[in-house]
Amino acid sequence: VARIIPVETFDLVIFGGTGDLARRKILPSLFHRMVVGQMPTDARIIGAARGKMTRKAFQEFVEESLEEFIDESERKPEDVKTFVGQLDYVALDALGEGGWEELGKKLRKDVVRAFYLSVGPSLFGGIAERLKKTGLATPKSRIVVEKPLGHDLESAQKLNAQLSASFKENQIYRIDHYLGKETVQNLMALRFANALFEPLWSAQHVDHVQITVAENIGVEGRGGYYDKSGAMRDMIQNHLMQLLCLTAMEPPARFEPNAVRDEKLKVIRALDPVPAADTVRGQYRANGEDGSYLDHVENPDSTTESYVAIKTQISNWRWAGTPFYLRTGKKLRGRLSEIAIIFKDVPHSIFPEVDEKRGNALIIRLQPDEGITLRMTIKDPGPGGMRLKEVPLDMTFADALGPNAEVADAYERLIMDVIRGNQTLFMRGDEVEAAWEWTDAILAAWEKGGKKPQAYDAGGSGPEDSLALMHRDGRRWREIA
Ligand code: NAD
Repeated sequence: VARIIPVETFDLVIFGGTGDLARRKILPSLFHRMVVGQMPTDARIIGAARGKMTRKAFQEFVEESLEEFIDESERKPEDVKTFVGQLDYVALDALGEGGWEELGKKLRKDVVRAFYLSVGPSLFGGIAERLKKTGLATPKSRIVVEKPLGHDLESAQKLNAQLSASFKENQIYRIDHYLGKETVQNLMALRFANALFEPLWSAQHVDHVQITVAENIGVEGRGGYYDKSGAMRDMIQNHLMQLLCLTAMEPPARFEPNAVRDEKLKVIRALDPVPAADTVRGQYRANGEDGSYLDHVENPDSTTESYVAIKTQISNWRWAGTPFYLRTGKKLRGRLSEIAIIFKDVPHSIFPEVDEKRGNALIIRLQPDEGITLRMTIKDPGPGGMRLKEVPLDMTFADALGPNAEVADAYERLIMDVIRGNQTLFMRGDEVEAAWEWTDAILAAWEKGGKKPQAYDAGGSGPEDSLALMHRDGRRWREIA
């Protein structure tokens, strides 16, 4: 049975408490943390949004969300009753003056206060300012924001300035939910709690690294937002960049928020500028029953990319000469997120009968089936002589840890970290800005080049040029199963 350490009591205000993110993720996550005994039953959750709504109506609204997003077997009526008893609601315009006083009256003195901004980024600055002006932001308060954290370096700097006008950096929690995933934290455990891998974790032994976030869904329903953003801004600048950082960073001296984040920042700063020739942009086109990207966006000539592949280099002692290949896209053959460390081959093979040598690889799988696989070469059993065969040494967490293992959803973990005041798994302002600086240079090169994204078939494995990006280096992408 997992050891649950309850957090201290808190008041959590969810701005945009009636929105999609609150319904799908934040509220179900809190419910689950209550059920397992981590969230105290005297903690309070206050929805704040523009619409007028009674407390009772909000409770019913949340109850319906739980019914929609939580399996019936995990939703006991008495738990639901306790949970909705912890809820309250205020109608408030984020950029107006009404409602703030009422919100203030609902908050307790001297308990942890968290303000979760589950609203569009154009409201972040105004809310932060009002929280300060009205005195609702206390020294024990935290503010939580998530992507999009800017559209480019300039807007990210502006956003950081707005937040830090009212909150100290150690009160600002920038969520990247990839960092809340169990496997991602396990990457740190794997690297820094085992003697086995770290000596091999460098250009000397690693041929290259592949980081993939493949989605099989398209932009349906989100086309309006997505078309202004594209895969580079929506995925690479944040999620893939964070995975790259954790894979490549030096061991921090301590497992502490700023020690970890300092090391991640150093990785971003060591990234080489990427020439346009080392990037590929793609946009999916109709294939069989699958519609095309352009069916889902307003602009029929949109050149926004739904796929990006990038070859990048980290210029430091550990990694010089080892390329990191990143790719992400929508409407691909499968849904897969993984980090693959591909090791160099043995210096001299004594087995001539190997058809194809691929060497060892360590695969860190984020989804589906979180786990870690080590690709090994062994002798093919049987009388056929000294034939070699590749086999996986596989550890799927659900199998290895048993059926009762508690793998908490990323949001559950992260929200509890906010209450605990632990920023290790949150991005610091300077990290976000450094990532934008690198991203902006690539976006600018694309703009200057004026090249359209290459079309790729919906349900396929990405644009031709993306395969070529690997082939020209004598490598290939792993399958998106
Ligand atoms: P949404 O449109 O579903 O909800 C927005 C919420 O904000 C509603 O509750 C609305 O009442 C409230 N709101 C809007 N304007 C307001 C105002 N002036 N004053 C007070 N309340 C106001 O949006 P969402 O999908 O929940 O997303 C919220 C934010 O989180 C966005 O910035 C989005 O980019 C980000 N985000 C969403 C997801 C997701 O899965 N939906 C994932 C990651 C990040």
